[in-house]
Amino acid sequence: TSSSQHAILDGLNDAQRRAVTSDAPTVAILAGPGSGKTHTLTARVVWLMDHDGLRPQDVLVVTFTVKAAREMKERIARTLADGRDKKLILGTFHSIARRYLAAYGRHIGLSQSFGIADDADSRAIIARICKRMQTGLDPAFARNWISKKKARGAGASGARRGGAAGDRSLEDLETCYAEYQKHLETSHLLDYDDLLVRCVELLRKFPACVSNIGAVLVDEYQDTNAIQYDLMTLLAQRRRRITIVGDPDQSIYGWRSADIRNLERLLRDYPGTDCVALERNYRSSKSILAMSLEVIKQDEKRYKKSLKPIHAKGCRPVLRRLKNPSTEADWIVAELRRVLLLSGSMLTHNDVAILLRSASLSRHIESALGRAGITYRMVGGFKFYERAEIKTVIDYLRVIHQPENNDALARIINTPRRGVGDTTVRNLLEEAETASLSVWAVLTKHCQGLRTAKTKITKQAEQKISGTLLRPLNDIRAKMGQASGPEPAPLGLVRMIERLLATLGFRKHLEETHPLDHEQRWANVQEFLGLAADFERDLDRSPDDDALPEIEGLAQAKEADVLQRFLANVSLAADAQTAGDDQQSKPLVTISTIHAAKGLEWPIVFIPAVYAGSIPHARSEDDDEERRLLYVAMTRAQSLLYLSYPVSGSNGERTQVSPFIDPIKHYFHDKGPCLDRPVMAEVSEILRRALPPDEEIYKELPDMFSPEDNLFPVNPDEAQDADGQSRWREHGPSAKRPRLQGPSNAGQIR
Ligand code: ATP
Ligand code: MG
Repeated sequence: TSSSQHAILDGLNDAQRRAVTSDAPTVAILAGPGSGKTHTLTARVVWLMDHDGLRPQDVLVVTFTVKAAREMKERIARTLADGRDKKLILGTFHSIARRYLAAYGRHIGLSQSFGIADDADSRAIIARICKRMQTGLDPAFARNWISKKKARGAGASGARRGGAAGDRSLEDLETCYAEYQKHLETSHLLDYDDLLVRCVELLRKFPACVSNIGAVLVDEYQDTNAIQYDLMTLLAQRRRRITIVGDPDQSIYGWRSADIRNLERLLRDYPGTDCVALERNYRSSKSILAMSLEVIKQDEKRYKKSLKPIHAKGCRPVLRRLKNPSTEADWIVAELRRVLLLSGSMLTHNDVAILLRSASLSRHIESALGRAGITYRMVGGFKFYERAEIKTVIDYLRVIHQPENNDALARIINTPRRGVGDTTVRNLLEEAETASLSVWAVLTKHCQGLRTAKTKITKQAEQKISGTLLRPLNDIRAKMGQASGPEPAPLGLVRMIERLLATLGFRKHLEETHPLDHEQRWANVQEFLGLAADFERDLDRSPDDDALPEIEGLAQAKEADVLQRFLANVSLAADAQTAGDDQQSKPLVTISTIHAAKGLEWPIVFIPAVYAGSIPHARSEDDDEERRLLYVAMTRAQSLLYLSYPVSGSNGERTQVSPFIDPIKHYFHDKGPCLDRPVMAEVSEILRRALPPDEEIYKELPDMFSPEDNLFPVNPDEAQDADGQSRWREHGPSAKRPRLQGPSNAGQIR
C-alpha cells in the first residue's frame, strides 16, 4: 500500500495534498477550472482506501457525466492495479440511484423490471397529455414545470409556484402532472427525476441500504440541485463523511434547477467542514487563462478567488469575424488542418474540440468537416439514440423487456409496415385504458380471436401482427430468459438483437423506406450493435461489477436481466456515446455542446458563434449563467483558443460580437495566428508544454512575444510552477509518446 500512497501524493502540490489527506469528516475543495479538483478527488478516493482502510465497496463517488465516471475508474485502476477499483460505487447521481432502486426498489413497491423514460419519452408523453387536455397548455413549459417541481422534492400537489402561471394554468399544470405520473406508473417507468425522488424515498425508509457507506465524494458539486443534495446526505447518513469539489464560476445548470445555495447549505449542515482552495491552473497557457478570467471578472457579484497559471504565456487567443456561418465553418476547418499539419505527429484530430452554445449550430461545421474528409464525433445533445432507426430498435428491445410499455409499442406497431393505421393505434390505446390492460395484452387477445367490435384491425393486419410482432418477440423473450437445462444456452444480447433485426427484415425495411440514405442508417444500426457488444463484453469481464454489497437483513434483488441493464445504460447515457467513442479507433475531432464539455480539456479549442443572441442566448434569462458558460468553454483550452462569429447569423440577421467579449476584444489576435505570424512559434509552444520542463528543448525555444505584445505582464516566477519539477506524469498506456494529455472525447450527464 505504501507505494500507491506515495504515487498518489507524489505529483500533488501542497494544497492538493492537504485536501487528499484531510482528516476532517467533510471536505470542500473550491477552486477554479484546471486547478486539479477532479484530479485531487480521484487521489482522495485512493487515499481513503489505502490510508483509512475503507473497503472499495463502501466508497461512493459521484461524477457529473458517464464519461467522467469511466475516466476516473481508469485512473484509479492504474494507480491501484489490484482490481479494487471495480468494487467502488462510482457513477452519476442517476446511475447510482438506479442501482439502489434495482436492488432494493421492491421494498418501496417498485416493480422489479422498471424501465426508464428518457427525455424524449417524457416529452412525448407530456405532449400527448397536453393535446388531450385541449387547454392550450404548452408541453415544453409543462415538462419544465413538472421537472422543476420534482427536483425541488415536492409531490404532485406540493408547493405553489408563483409568477408566470396564473391560477387557471396552474390547475392545468397540476392536472398534467398527475396524468403524467399516472401514465409512468402504469407503464412501470421512472423518468430521470423519479430515479432521484424514489431513491431518496428508499433511503429515508431503509437507511440500512447504505449502512456500509464510509465516504461519499462528489465532483462538479456546483451543479447539484436540491434533490441531489438530499440524496447525497442520505447516501452519507451513516458516517456523514463527504468530500465535494466544485467551482461556483462554472455553475451552468441553473436552468435545470441546479442550486448554488447547496454550498451554503453544506457548510451549515456540516459544521467543521475543511475548506481547501487550489490556486494553480495546470491546464491552460497563461494568456488563455488571463482572457478567460477577464470574462468571468465581469460578474461583480461573484465570489473572487485566485487562480494562477503554471504555464507560460503561449499564443494569444484569436477572435475572428467572418462573413457568415458557412465561411466561419470553412475557416475553422482550414485553420485546424493547418495547425495539425504544422505540428507534425505531435497533435492529432483527437486534440481538437469545437464547442457550441447549442446543438443547432453544428450543421455548417459538420458539412465543412465532411467536405474536408475529416471524421468527427458528436457529444452532448446530438442524440445518437434518438435517430429514428436506432430509436425503433430500442423500442423493440423495450417491448421485449416490458410488454406493458405502451408508448414503445405504439411506436413500433406499424414499423415495419403491418397495415395498422394511426386510428387503430388510438383505438387500441383507448381500449387498453378502459380494460385496464396493456396494449400488448389487448393485441394478444385480438390475435387469439377474441376481437372486440371497436378495434377495426383487418384480419390481414391481425395475422401480420401475430406473425411478425407477437410471436417473434415472445419467442425471443423466452429464449433470453432460459437459464439452463437441456435447451441451448440463453440468447446473448448481441445475438438476440441480430435475430430481432433478421426477423423484422430491418435492413430491407430501411431500404424501402429510406431509398436515399438507407446505407448510413444501416451503418448506424451496426454501430448500435457494436455498443451492445461492448456492453456485453464488459459485463462478462466483471459480472458483478454492478452489484451492491450485501446488507444483512435487507433482501437485495439480483439484476440478472442483461437486457434491463443494457436499456438503463442506454437511457442514462443518452448523450454520451456517438460514432467511434472508442480509444482505439482513429482520431476524431470532437464537436460538443459547451454543457457536455464540462470538466474536460483539449489542446486546441474552437468556439464559434460568439455573438449576442447565441451567447448570451436569445432565449436565456440569466446573463450571468451565459457568461459562466462562455468561461467554461474558454477554460477547456490548453494551448490554442479560437473564438469566432459570423457578421450575419444563420437567418441572415446582422450580428454583434458577444457583450462578454466586446470589452476585451482588442486583446485578441484578430487575423488568427496565421499567415503574417511565424506559425511554428505557436506550435513549438504546444511542443514546449508537451515536454517535461526539465528537457533541454524547453529552455531553447524562442520567446514568442515581443515586449509590446505582452498584454499580461509576466512575473517570471509565476510562469513556472514553484515546484516545477513535479509536473504530472501519466503512468500507463497513454504515456507512450510525449504528447499533450487531452481526453479523446466527452460524455454527458446522468
Ligand atoms: P475543471 O474545473 O475544468 O473540472 P479541475 O479543477 O477538475 O478542472 P483537473 O481536470 O483535475 O482540473 O486538472 C486539470 C489538468 O491539470 C489535468 O490535465 C490534470 O492532470 C492536471 N493536473 C492537476 N493537478 C496537477 C498537478 N499537481 N501536477 C500536474 N498536473 C496536474
Ligand atoms: Mg473537474
